[in-house]
Amino acid sequence: MGKRITKHLTYLFEALLEVVYYKDDVCIICGGNAEEINICKSCLNKIKTCPGDTVLCKNNNYFIYYSVSYYSKVMKTLILRLKYKGDFFSGETIAKLMVSHIQREKIKFDAITFVPMTKRAEKKRGYNQSQFLSKLVSKSLDVPLIKCLVKVHESNDQIGLDGSGRWDNLSNCFRAVNEKMYLGKVILLIDDVITTGATAYYCGDAMKKSGAKSVIVLTAAKSCI
Ligand SMILES: [Zn+2]
Repeated sequence: MGKRITKHLTYLFEALLEVVYYKDDVCIICGGNAEEINICKSCLNKIKTCPGDTVLCKNNNYFIYYSVSYYSKVMKTLILRLKYKGDFFSGETIAKLMVSHIQREKIKFDAITFVPMTKRAEKKRGYNQSQFLSKLVSKSLDVPLIKCLVKVHESNDQIGLDGSGRWDNLSNCFRAVNEKMYLGKVILLIDDVITTGATAYYCGDAMKKSGAKSVIVLTAAKSCI
């Protein structure tokens, strides 16, 4: 058997064991007694929420964004587990925190969408973490989920680029699709982390140019913005 197949089978077996032995009353961060969202009170209290909204502005174009918390400690662990380890329990916890944040901040919108990945990147990872979160939020709030965007180019590695380099790097990456489905609607765009805001800006810009009334951004965490 090839090394690659063995690796995949081992991964599948471990994932299966995790499902079989997973207990929903155990905190996924510390192993303590969990509350209703797979996490204990103590770990939950370490997530410092970011109240209020922030305006993202460029070229006289404005977007409002909200983040559940800063990109640190518990939230960072949850995001990294969802993004790189396929840990959907962590994703479930993040989605529930997003729903609570939407309700607490009274964010109003008509439909939900997510930051897309290129076909190649999604195939490699096997899923899109932002799409996963948006599906759960959509289901929980009973608001339609619309695929509004595709990512047509892979953005080069952002590491090592300065602020303007990061913006240039993403300027032609996103294209609007299914425009008729969101004409005149307020769209909530979901992503895991906001850093420079360039991704959120270009996604929002593409949707507004294609007929969205407005775009509000919600991320699980914010980092350095
Ligand atoms: Zn805990």
